[in-house]
Amino acid sequence: METQIKKLDAKALDMNVIAEAGRVLREGGLVAFPTETVYGLGGDALNPASSEKIYAAKGRPSDNPLIVHIAREEDVYRIAAKVPKEAKGLMEAFWPGPLTLIFPKTDLVPGKTTGGLATVAVRMPSDKVAQALIQAAGGFVAAPSANASGRPSTTTAAHVAEDLDGRIEMILDGGQAVIGLESTIVDVSEGKPVILRPGAITKAMMEAVIGPLDVDAAVIAADSGVKPKAPGMKYRHYAPRAQLTIVEGETEAVIAAVNRLTAEAEAAGKQVGIIATDETAGRYKKGLVKSLGARSCEEEISRHLFEVLRSFDETDADYIYSESFETAAIGQAVMNRLLKAAGYRVIEV
Ligand code: AMP
Ligand code: MG
Repeated sequence: METQIKKLDAKALDMNVIAEAGRVLREGGLVAFPTETVYGLGGDALNPASSEKIYAAKGRPSDNPLIVHIAREEDVYRIAAKVPKEAKGLMEAFWPGPLTLIFPKTDLVPGKTTGGLATVAVRMPSDKVAQALIQAAGGFVAAPSANASGRPSTTTAAHVAEDLDGRIEMILDGGQAVIGLESTIVDVSEGKPVILRPGAITKAMMEAVIGPLDVDAAVIAADSGVKPKAPGMKYRHYAPRAQLTIVEGETEAVIAAVNRLTAEAEAAGKQVGIIATDETAGRYKKGLVKSLGARSCEEEISRHLFEVLRSFDETDADYIYSESFETAAIGQAVMNRLLKAAGYRVIEV
């Protein structure tokens, strides 16, 4: 299949392209599209055959449910059997935006879309291209991240093409995804809301609106043995080809340790990549150093994480050493992705 790539300007949307992409989705085809989090691989959420195609194109295990994207808040009531008051509070505060909520599903949603679960994940993105496409497709677009299963999520159309060219009908190119990490996921399907995946909408932001939230043990677990409530969180994710290790500690100690590890590996004939920040990049004397941006600007770090992880696959690096990013807000989401990418390999210095 030939994949068509169409450029779109969110400020002056070409509605002919949107209509064409919407038609592809309504006819059961697949269209990758930009959202404010990462690129999504879209199919008609109400068509089980489309969901099967999504799993096949990504090489994704079919027990890993898809997030259903809507463009109008009222559409949630057609696919969610119950919308509790905490969910309404979160929707009012953070939709449209990078927040996914898990509800008990109605019969309108096929089991193929939810990986056989009785619940459905729903998000209303703020990206204008995404919103227009969802409307043109009939209102319900299932879209996991638009990467081959196991690889880092995609934040540009070029990255989508790297993984999915020839496997899907169309890619809408709306430029770089602003946030760069997948949505926060909160389960509101039973009792007290639980955070299943951290993202740009943080625990503190949500607690300011609806009070205390729980966090699924798998989000903060130091090992991958804890069974997560979001099925997808159990799979190895984001892993670069090279072996990635996170080095954690005081900045000076981290720099010294990474320099030492790099020198040792190079002496043994290996190539080393280093994930640094603008503040520290100049301090690494050997290895291939890539900066995620200014540590003082969390948004820059999150926006560039997947791009940098991906870019190491185009190098001959055998090992990658990364600085650590635990901070109060989106840093937790960055660390959650980085830990998975590293297979939880961390050195404390
Ligand atoms: P992605 O679309 O690649 O961002 O992955 C979607 C994430 O949402 C995966 O980790 C899924 O396991 C999770 N998810 C989707 N639907 C549900 C659901 N009904 N219950 C729990 N987790 C879900
Ligand atoms: Mg994904």
